[in-house]
Amino acid sequence: MPLRLFLLMLCLLPGLRAQAGWLADEQAIMGTRVAVSLWAENETAARGCIGRVMDEMRRTDALMSPFRDDSELARINAAAGRAPVAVDAELFGLIRRALRFSALTGGAFDITFASVGYLYDFRKARHPDAASLAAHLPAVDWHKVRLDARTRSVFLPQKGMRIDLGGIAKGHAVDRGIAILRDCGIRSALVTAGGDSRILGDHHGRPWMMGVKNPRQRDGIAVVLPLSDTAISTSGDYERFFIEGGKRYHHILSPRTGRPVRHTMSVTVLGPDATTTDGLSTSFFVLGPERALALCESLPGIETVIIDAQGQIHYSSGLMPPQRPGARPPPP
Ligand code: ADP
Ligand code: MG
Repeated sequence: MPLRLFLLMLCLLPGLRAQAGWLADEQAIMGTRVAVSLWAENETAARGCIGRVMDEMRRTDALMSPFRDDSELARINAAAGRAPVAVDAELFGLIRRALRFSALTGGAFDITFASVGYLYDFRKARHPDAASLAAHLPAVDWHKVRLDARTRSVFLPQKGMRIDLGGIAKGHAVDRGIAILRDCGIRSALVTAGGDSRILGDHHGRPWMMGVKNPRQRDGIAVVLPLSDTAISTSGDYERFFIEGGKRYHHILSPRTGRPVRHTMSVTVLGPDATTTDGLSTSFFVLGPERALALCESLPGIETVIIDAQGQIHYSSGLMPPQRPGARPPPP
């Protein structure tokens, strides 16, 4: 009997199946692919934990989706220019966190980008014309978002103003997922939502090997990073886009111009949690390689890999091989 067939039969024989082992599940949630992979000592209990992570992702989506009229986020947007909206503590906290990223990045990260962002439809290959952009751009300004901690309310003071947490919500959901797994006693896991992942522990004494996609080659990998106990997020101009007149229209917009950012193809950020890496990957993308690398160097515990518009790869100093003083480069 061929070895592979023999192994397959062993797996199928009830009762012979080992209790401990790797488990994985994948579902379409939040408009993206959500995946959980973990080492389970007890399969039944671990399957229940994976189910809780998936439920948590659906709950976050229901709270924060800009596409559902009944989400709390949609209620904030619907009341723009009219009244403050009291919201759930979690949503309030995440909006506050988003505004901190705006302050940190001089406005490169700005959830009010959505005031022009909704004029784009990447599936239908639609983008606003110059007049429409000019009319909506004044509503893009994170300084105008009013948070009231006492009433836990959010007010968008201008009619037509909108917010969208697409640049940070998936990272937040991944962090919630990891917290659930930790609570379950899981010590080795990977939770992914689209471009945002977080790794708990290692991969049986070795690092997880995480690939950074080649932005212009389907299924191609540009860089492989060995990682454990860290979060990793990638923002790319190849995730949601269309090409028109030789120009790429994609989903990461400059809050200054309301147009897709053109100086970068992809940004990967490593850090302690996925809310941080998600917010920073979108931020670094908007800032561009030079300003992003400078900001990254000032942030402890954060590393980045940036692929610029020419396809050149830039690494932050913590990812570069150590330079020994006096060391000579290897011969060509
Ligand atoms: P994803 O994982 O969704 O591909 P990113 O983390 O790179 O994405 O975030 C891209 C999303 O961030 C966009 O789809 C949009 O919802 C939002 N976004 C776009 N431009 C900005 C911006 N300048 N500031 C904050 N969020 C933005
Ligand atoms: Mg992001």
